[in-house]
Amino acid sequence: MTIHIPFNKPCIVGSELIYVGQAVAGGHASGDGPFTRRAQKLMEDRFGAQRILLTTSCTSALEIAALLCDFGPGDEVILPSYTFVATANAAVLRGATPVFVDIRPDTLNIDERLIEAAITPRTRAIFPIHYAGVACEMDAIMEIAERHGLLVVEDAAQGVFAKYKGQWLGTIGHMGCYSFHETKNFSCGEGGALVINDPKLEKRAEILREKGTNRSQFLRGQVDKYTWVDVGSSYVPSDMLAAFLVGQLENMEKITARRGEIDRRYTMLLAPLIEHGLIQIAHVPLHCTPNYHMFYLLAADLEERTALIAYLRAAGILSVFHYVPLHSSPFMKARNLPLADLPVTDDISRRLLRLPMYFDLTDRDVAEVAAAVLGFYSERMVG
Ligand SMILES: *Cc1c(COP(=O)(O)O)cnc(C)c1O
Repeated sequence: MTIHIPFNKPCIVGSELIYVGQAVAGGHASGDGPFTRRAQKLMEDRFGAQRILLTTSCTSALEIAALLCDFGPGDEVILPSYTFVATANAAVLRGATPVFVDIRPDTLNIDERLIEAAITPRTRAIFPIHYAGVACEMDAIMEIAERHGLLVVEDAAQGVFAKYKGQWLGTIGHMGCYSFHETKNFSCGEGGALVINDPKLEKRAEILREKGTNRSQFLRGQVDKYTWVDVGSSYVPSDMLAAFLVGQLENMEKITARRGEIDRRYTMLLAPLIEHGLIQIAHVPLHCTPNYHMFYLLAADLEERTALIAYLRAAGILSVFHYVPLHSSPFMKARNLPLADLPVTDDISRRLLRLPMYFDLTDRDVAEVAAAVLGFYSERMVG
């Protein structure tokens, strides 16, 4: 059977296409044009952030953040192994060594109670990721960082428009990184942003993002020519992409409301399985305001998850799993670093399954997916 309910689908919810046309017609399709400034301003105002710079991806925002951390060889960065490779690569590209800490079994976020034991004299930074748009325990993380003089870079790729104790994710650490990849809540296909919360980092961030030049100051008329002043790379997205993104950012409430509805529907329809302890779903602590980035369930074991994916696929529904934990990846294994035991990471990575979740998913689609999951478990119980 062909897939008729995909895992993810990009959406158009407002004026995205009109804005893209305006970006081209206005004669400024390259980076840092009017739509880039509009997207940045919209987020700065909304999130109360010191400074937000659009980037070509969250990966590139993480790379700028790692450059700003000024790592030297042998410096260590603490992060979960249960994350996307970009979080670790940013540090590794700068010569730093990733030190993996296990995750909490409830939110699947880095377990803040295990961070302190992983700190050594070489530790320079903590890169927490807000998994599924549910916040890490940032109070504890910031307190540990302060006590040990560490920088905190939030990987808020999945956490745009979600909050921790009333504060927007990405605005709590020294820096935060957002993703506007197709699979994220608000998207322009490929895109990202660097949130700068420590004013001391702002000037250099602009330069690194602009290929190592002071072009941003030039555009503001602060210098009369622009030139090479530091290292850097091409991290500025096209204004056409920024234009599409503005259309999405203007509709953050609308997109989040629909995703929340889908989340509640899945939860309601799958309640019998949850009540019988056959599956578990996400736990959201009361002080965390989620953005409904994903709907996942935890199966009993790897064998059950594999069978469920195949069952759903046979019903024309695409479900996916992630992550292959970074500590068990070929790249990390080849480096022969001492690795701590990460039992929760190993366990969760074998059992987690993500169900379709996107703005245009209809109530009927949700009912069909949930019915298929229920069908799988009822056949399994009989069998
Ligand atoms: C999606 C994602 C990224 C990468 O985002 P890109 O914009 O595709 O570079 C990084 N970290 C996490 C946790 C992600 O989910």
